[in-house]
Amino acid sequence: MSQTQTMSDRSQVTGTQSDELAEANESNSAAKLELLELGHRAARRFIEAERNTEVMPSPKAIADLDAFDHVGLDDPWPSAEVIKLLGSVGSAAAMGQNSGRYFGFVNGGVAPVALAAAALSTAWDQNLALPVMSPAGSRIDAAAARMIVDVLGLPSQAVATFCGGATIANLTAVITARDTLIERTGWDVHRQGLSGAPPISVIASAEAHISVLKVLRLAGIGSDAVTVVPTDDCGRLVAAELPELSPQSGPTLVLLQAGNVNTGHSDPFDAIHDHLEASGAPNTWVHVDGAFGLWANATPERRQHVAGVERADSWATDGHKWLNSPYDAGVVICADPARLHRSMASTAAYLPIEDGERSLMNLGLQMSQAARAVPIWAILASEGRDGVARAVEGCCRVAEHFADRLAAAGAEVLAPVVLNQVLVSFGDGATTDGVVEAVQRDGTCWMGATEWQGRRAMRISVSDISTTIADADASIDAVLACRERVTKQDL
Ligand SMILES: *Cc1c(COP(=O)(O)O)cnc(C)c1O
Repeated sequence: MSQTQTMSDRSQVTGTQSDELAEANESNSAAKLELLELGHRAARRFIEAERNTEVMPSPKAIADLDAFDHVGLDDPWPSAEVIKLLGSVGSAAAMGQNSGRYFGFVNGGVAPVALAAAALSTAWDQNLALPVMSPAGSRIDAAAARMIVDVLGLPSQAVATFCGGATIANLTAVITARDTLIERTGWDVHRQGLSGAPPISVIASAEAHISVLKVLRLAGIGSDAVTVVPTDDCGRLVAAELPELSPQSGPTLVLLQAGNVNTGHSDPFDAIHDHLEASGAPNTWVHVDGAFGLWANATPERRQHVAGVERADSWATDGHKWLNSPYDAGVVICADPARLHRSMASTAAYLPIEDGERSLMNLGLQMSQAARAVPIWAILASEGRDGVARAVEGCCRVAEHFADRLAAAGAEVLAPVVLNQVLVSFGDGATTDGVVEAVQRDGTCWMGATEWQGRRAMRISVSDISTTIADADASIDAVLACRERVTKQDL
């Protein structure tokens, strides 16, 4: 470290400064620091309270949000007042997503180191479109990308890039797959477009995430191209039901899933790849939507649930779900970096990607982009392989605890818990919905409702790494008390 240059070693350019320039610089910095301090104090008050207050903001706090409609373009507020409004009315109505007791959707918390790294990198305000725009951001991004591929157990030559979320990652990968599949038939999709191009067949499970269906639309493939493969009672694609492919089959895109949003179960990747390889189909691409489930591959205790996932051509995952980086952070990973580059390059000169040539505007949909990888790098650098494995495993253990205690209390767990998702029924649909509503109002914790194979269910997603068994116990007590109230009303 003794050789490392720090900010204070950076040569000063103030020697030639005029008095006016020096004064302007000082007041610019002072304004930033003063407002940042206000924001920091508001964040501090929020963080000090977030684990001890109700997860769902009160109806009064939500009604107070009208204040944001009362500040208009013709009557702007002083900056300090704007920050104060955010810190009072905004904070009061923010969801307690980092309370340790938020189990809605598959929304992760934020790791402390990631929060601090994000705040610092916001101060840097870097644009990562090209390395020349940000030496620091670009190198940190490249380091984070290498660590992501490694920690997820994916092929070492694969390239990872960061984007707004798994939906964008799915879109990026599906466009790359589409271009590759069509180009292999001799059709130049970049020059000739899609109209008249050889059609792509898509194979997807009946449980494909809604974002994947949207992506097919956006990529100009459309839902008519999809052969839907039935799933089992845990939401896994049934390999024996895959359509027959042969050496004569045309371009085929296979869309698989690691981590069903309801059950957490994953498709049987090995069986599917064996089927595809045995068919001799010459032109296939396998993409895995692993928004949260791909992280099972980061822990030896859960890896068997995604066995064979590394055999795909591309993967989408999220940092903002199970890794607990801040929003918006998705990751797209492509086994063949040249394919991603060919589809995403902004120039027609399809240069090979060499070391040091990692230009993000040529590896993804966006040109200008935030240094999303900085908080992700901070988590991976401070947790390491073992820390990430422990964090993922910890959420799975809490999920199992939920299932065990709720089942012991007479609730029905609708699918075996393999990762962080738990599906619970409290009897008929109306009772289950009634319990979910009562829990949301109660405020101890927050869970959503879903539909699973024709039945209403409470869905519990343990995606905040800070959640403890004590958080789960307090939440389970609240759920059971709500069930008691709801079932008594029914009598
Ligand atoms: C959450 C999720 C998505 C969408 O991810 P975003 O980051 O919200 O865009 C896609 N697929 C699965 C399986 C998910 O759980």
